[in-house]
Amino acid sequence: MLPSLTPTEIERYRRQMMLPGLGETGQRQLKNTTALVTGVGGLGGTAALYLAVAGVGKLILVRGGNLQRDDLNRQILMTDDWVGKPRVFKAQETLAQLNPDIDIEAVCEYVSVDNIDSLLRPADIALDCAFDFKERDLLNAACVRQRTPMIEAAMNSMEAYLTTIVPGQTPCLTCLFPEKPDWDRWGFGVLGAVSGTLACLAALEAIKLITGLGEPLLGQLLTMDLARAEFAKRRPFHDPNCPTCGQLTQPSNPLATSAALC
Ligand SMILES: [Zn+2]
Repeated sequence: MLPSLTPTEIERYRRQMMLPGLGETGQRQLKNTTALVTGVGGLGGTAALYLAVAGVGKLILVRGGNLQRDDLNRQILMTDDWVGKPRVFKAQETLAQLNPDIDIEAVCEYVSVDNIDSLLRPADIALDCAFDFKERDLLNAACVRQRTPMIEAAMNSMEAYLTTIVPGQTPCLTCLFPEKPDWDRWGFGVLGAVSGTLACLAALEAIKLITGLGEPLLGQLLTMDLARAEFAKRRPFHDPNCPTCGQLTQPSNPLATSAALC
């Protein structure tokens, strides 16, 4: 049974509840959702911001390391006085100020083989915003094991891609990239407006999947060249022999099942 909304929540979310396809039921679905966000940088932090103000009931933010001054051109939850301190706790503080009606858990760790299953277990949906493919592969495999939907968003310089993965229903990250792109963690420039654009689209994918609003990118890969404002949708191959998801047939996560009906 979905949680009811308080008078404050009804007031806070009134404008988005006016959207056809969202409404009060969609808002209660958002409140009933726990979302895991891995990598709370220019991409994950901004995605978390839009999940928070949309009223996703609980966010689990996972990111190790301290804030550096050269993060500040894109990590909009951060402030200059926080340089040198763990960024995930500042993200938690900023989001709590923006929306005190939601729960936010901050985990100052990098995703690893030892922690990923326990981090993912309470989540209904995951947003993959990690900075390298090692963490991305770990989250993808865990999402397949636990049959948890995952929003996959990544960028390189002025290019970006986005897709929504529902294990058993759509290609997984291994299907999409059997061999990983040669993206260097430190090797490309980044504009906050580019990571922010992708982050907004990633948050929107999560909101669509949770509420049934619109049409999420199920089995579709959106590629973006933001230097030229060119967008394209592709249908990636769903590999029946994929070493990660090849054994799955039907999704079992309730959110994944509802997504199939969207
Ligand atoms: Zn796969």
